[in-house]
Amino acid sequence: MRASATSGRPHSATACAAGKVEPTGLGGGARRITVLGATGSIGRSTLDLVARSGEAFEIEALTANADAEGLARLAIAHRARVAVVAEPAAYPRLAELLSGTGIEAAAGPAALVEAASRPADCVVAAIVGAAGLPPTIAAVRQGRRVALANKECLVTAGDIFMRETRAASTELLPVDSEHSAAFQAIGNAEPGWIEEITLTASGGPFREWDIARLAKALPSEALRHPNWSMGAKITIDSATMMNKGLELIEAYHLFPVAVEQIRIVVHPQSIVHCLVSYRDGSVLAQLSSPDMRTPIALALSWPSRMDAPTERLDLVRLGQLTFEAPDETRFPAIALARAALQRGGCAPAVLNAANEIAVHAFLAGRIGFLDIAETVAKCLETADGRGLLGPRAALDDVLAVDEEARQLARTMLTASSRSSVHGSSLPFD
Ligand code: NAD
Ligand code: MG
Repeated sequence: MRASATSGRPHSATACAAGKVEPTGLGGGARRITVLGATGSIGRSTLDLVARSGEAFEIEALTANADAEGLARLAIAHRARVAVVAEPAAYPRLAELLSGTGIEAAAGPAALVEAASRPADCVVAAIVGAAGLPPTIAAVRQGRRVALANKECLVTAGDIFMRETRAASTELLPVDSEHSAAFQAIGNAEPGWIEEITLTASGGPFREWDIARLAKALPSEALRHPNWSMGAKITIDSATMMNKGLELIEAYHLFPVAVEQIRIVVHPQSIVHCLVSYRDGSVLAQLSSPDMRTPIALALSWPSRMDAPTERLDLVRLGQLTFEAPDETRFPAIALARAALQRGGCAPAVLNAANEIAVHAFLAGRIGFLDIAETVAKCLETADGRGLLGPRAALDDVLAVDEEARQLARTMLTASSRSSVHGSSLPFD
């Protein structure tokens, strides 16, 4: 029998839900919410649920990166109080579109943090990438309930993020489907009885592709996810399986388990999202159609539930659910993420930063599919040589490492790109 080793981290299964538990069942007056990353896939799914819920929710703030048109449309439709673009150059257009509506417009990193800090019953953290860390942690520090979709926050600064969560008694509700599933399957179980958490992975569009084919994979092919409709970055992460690596790190921070207690299993149908095994042999799982509105609905309504208009499961029609081991040779990102987590300190931050830069380069057609994981591996190696992987106690120091790792990855990609011009076999255009 294996005891649960939690490496002394003072979190709990309900970590997520640690702290104040107010009677927040829907029906007790409108709940005020802020959506960081409102124009994205998770943001729009959140607002779709809000629109279907009558008067149950009110919108405090909505934010976006640079899409002033998209943001203004959502802000007007949902009668938000404030709309913020991260990109200052998008401000004049946003202000123009919102003039006369009574909705306040703002721009820039400080305005984003201010929007996240405003009074709200729940802040939905749905910005993509480590760019979401400063505003999300600002919401955490205010003790707001945070519905966390932005897994890169936890990958980049998991220890600090969870410490701040505990310090402010913030309720952290996972939105990532696997983690929402684990959260439900763990419930109030005593951490010591959990034997294992199994995160499922769809395997992405390239599950059955061999290495030779993967080397030539195009962004348009990688963007064609078989089950989920998501933003571009996470869709590429699903194709490389880095998404599951990031989720491994996310699960480690959210739940009371050691790295060795988190397993990854490929489940192409994306129906079973996570399984939690207990020491008595019981395995609890959560099943639902692959539609993010189910986990978002739980995070918005917890500890109650709300309606979500998703396709209902028909197990007979599905016929079978299949499971297989991930192939870490064709998809080395999983092993890279596990090694970064085991290494600790800033290794996961470097992994994430390098991955963000490499995914961007792949989407821009500047590198090949296999170069994504290779860039991450090389970046971790170089960062190690430069002493960047050690622990940092302050968030600003982690953000500095994140920036340095991005610079490192950019330099590496530029250098390889130059050598390709001189005849290297790297698939740059
Ligand atoms: P997306 O690309 O569709 O949307 C991202 C949002 O973030 C947009 O509103 C965009 O304007 C904003 N944004 C981008 N860069 C920004 C910056 N530098 N500063 C401020 N705002 C910025 O992404 P998504 O698919 O909705 O994913 C959002 C997050 O949720 C990611 O961390 C992803 O891993 C996680 N997640 C997504 C899904 C999904 O189904 N889409 C599932 C699980 C987890
Ligand atoms: Mg997920």
